[in-house]
Amino acid sequence: MTSYFEAFKDLLFPPFCLGCERWLESSRLPLFCSDCLSQLAVIQAPNCRCCGVPFLVGADHLCGDCLTAHYAFDLARSLWPYQPPVSTLIHALKFQGNLTGLATLGWLAAGSDCIKQFVEPDLIVPVPLFLGRLRERGFNQALVIAQGCFPQWRNRIDSGVLFRTRATVPQSSLSGKERRRNLHKAFSLSDFSKVKGKRILLVDDVFTTGSTINECCKTLRLAGAARIECFTLARSLVRGSTGPAQVVMAAL
Ligand SMILES: [Zn+2]
Ligand SMILES: [Zn+2]
Repeated sequence: MTSYFEAFKDLLFPPFCLGCERWLESSRLPLFCSDCLSQLAVIQAPNCRCCGVPFLVGADHLCGDCLTAHYAFDLARSLWPYQPPVSTLIHALKFQGNLTGLATLGWLAAGSDCIKQFVEPDLIVPVPLFLGRLRERGFNQALVIAQGCFPQWRNRIDSGVLFRTRATVPQSSLSGKERRRNLHKAFSLSDFSKVKGKRILLVDDVFTTGSTINECCKTLRLAGAARIECFTLARSLVRGSTGPAQVVMAAL
């Protein structure tokens, strides 16, 4: 039930749809109008049983990358393709510090079937920012995403155990050798005992080429993590060096 305070607040500051900016009647989550909500695409089966890349047809199976044990994680899932309005909201979160869309994205993610695919983790690890970048931005988007999407496991989030040893540049701006050099030994752990034998859930905003996430997973794996699963809000479905060629999107 909407409280008088909330109704009054909505009257003074009318909420708007995060997709089309149409005024909404109330500020109840999600902040999408019914049209935008019905058009919000989620990544659905059939997909790779390991990395989650969607296929156009057929049943779930392992993709070419996972058949060659390309990744160091056991499971990776993303909720949405990286496209508007989700990409717009994530971009605003990362580069303008605009947290407006976070509550809505977290609310939708927390109630999704995607989240239900993860085993209960011992530890949730947000992909870290380099200290300089963290100071500049003021917050780590992976941490606030973990807090928004996994409220039931909030006390298992540890943003200090995995850290970046140096600054890196976005993988998408590099190719081949440069990519490998860019991320080589870019991550380390502050306490190996926190990871050894544990089920880890790694969280980030976007799965682009998967290289950054995979490098984090290699670090966790070397420290003896028992199981590593990865969640990102969105996944880039344009073929990168390791990405998929075929994709399918379905209406929510
Ligand atoms: Zn709308
Ligand atoms: Zn795969």
